[in-house]
Amino acid sequence: MNIAVLGAQWGDEGKGKIVDLLTPNFSIVARYQGGHNAGHTVYAGGRKFVLRLLPSGILHDGITCVIGNGVVVDPQALFAEIDELAKAGISIGDRLIVSDKAHLILPYHRELDLLSEARRGERRIGTTSRGIGPAYEDKIARRGVRVGDMANTDTLSSAIRHNVEARNRLIGDSVMDADQVLADLRAAWTRMAPWVADVSLFLSRARADGRSIMFEGAQGTLLDIDHGTYPYVTSSNATIGGVCTGLGLPPRAIDGVLGVAKAYTTRVGEGPLPTELTGDLGNRLRETGQEFGAVTGRPRRCGWYDAVALRYAVRVNGLDALALTKLDVLDGMEELQICTSYRCHGKTLTEFPGEIAQLGACEPVYESLPGWTHPTAGARRYADLPKAAQGYIARLEELTGVPAAVLSTGSAREDTIIRDESVAAAWFGK
Ligand code: GDP
Repeated sequence: MNIAVLGAQWGDEGKGKIVDLLTPNFSIVARYQGGHNAGHTVYAGGRKFVLRLLPSGILHDGITCVIGNGVVVDPQALFAEIDELAKAGISIGDRLIVSDKAHLILPYHRELDLLSEARRGERRIGTTSRGIGPAYEDKIARRGVRVGDMANTDTLSSAIRHNVEARNRLIGDSVMDADQVLADLRAAWTRMAPWVADVSLFLSRARADGRSIMFEGAQGTLLDIDHGTYPYVTSSNATIGGVCTGLGLPPRAIDGVLGVAKAYTTRVGEGPLPTELTGDLGNRLRETGQEFGAVTGRPRRCGWYDAVALRYAVRVNGLDALALTKLDVLDGMEELQICTSYRCHGKTLTEFPGEIAQLGACEPVYESLPGWTHPTAGARRYADLPKAAQGYIARLEELTGVPAAVLSTGSAREDTIIRDESVAAAWFGK
């Protein structure tokens, strides 16, 4: 059984925890897109780990972790993460496979990221400035440098010299030394080479051997380059299609799709957010939910659960079920709102609009539900949830059309309810 776990909202849904929970039931965890802008927070054995590039499965002994061709790799960021884990006693050994076709993030990409955000001024995207966007730009413009290119001194040298010259022409106030970039890459290759392989081949052989794979998404559906709220999106396909293109696997390799969503909504960076709460309620969600970026520390914008956006995520990804996280953050709120449709220029919309100006003009139409006083925090059985929380979950399921198979009531692995009768019970080995 191969399952994809991906974000159903604007990222930061708590995928790290859910992937970590599921991992023991799989043999391989594979990332298919994004870079080290992802920031998955996992609490394991009382310790906090923030994983950026490595799949969260790396925290489990014996699990092979894969970085697919759809991911962009900054070698220094990868090594820093591996070293950090080594300090905590977690060794990677031969448990990592990096695609030879993954594109490299190079020093000039980071500079170009900062420059392009500065030039955008008011129209800035709110990127993490790690060079991820420019690395994908180079990939599409067919001047990118791939991990496997590091093995070939001539190919590497001519590509780097060409790109560094272009960068020096563009950024006039400083000069980057191509020889230094090449020397750093040669050193990086010495360390990285043992992990580099043809990921498509590795995974297809693994499937033939009956090994099960979890596909781990980064960011979320509404940040997808094609299906998200363009242009306020990330540079890769975070939605389900990214699994095939980002790993070199056929669609039939995916047996199930679990969408991760918060019991409310957040987004970081710019762009429309129809259910955004700017006053006390927004602050309260942010403080209680600790809604500050795992990588950048930026405060996240918070709002009510948006069932229109969730229905869209169900449609685009073919979600079989949801893992609903952070239910505990709503504890103690008197009344809760769920956005059931939008009002836009006098019309009611029940489908998520594809055009950003239209989304920006949408007002949420809310349905009110009673809150609960008895806490859900730390609940581990559905029956222990207050009736109002059960009612809230049931209504979300009705409105989104998929079961909330997994409920998360805290950041620890144990603070989770896996509903026995649900499709996801088998995925969780229940
Ligand atoms: P990801 O990128 O989707 O993995 O999400 P992040 O790691 O950026 O954000 C999720 C944060 O919420 C992490 O700090 C998690 O430990 C925390 N978290 C996950 N699930 C829950 C939950 O059910 N309740 C609470 N209170 N925190 C949670």
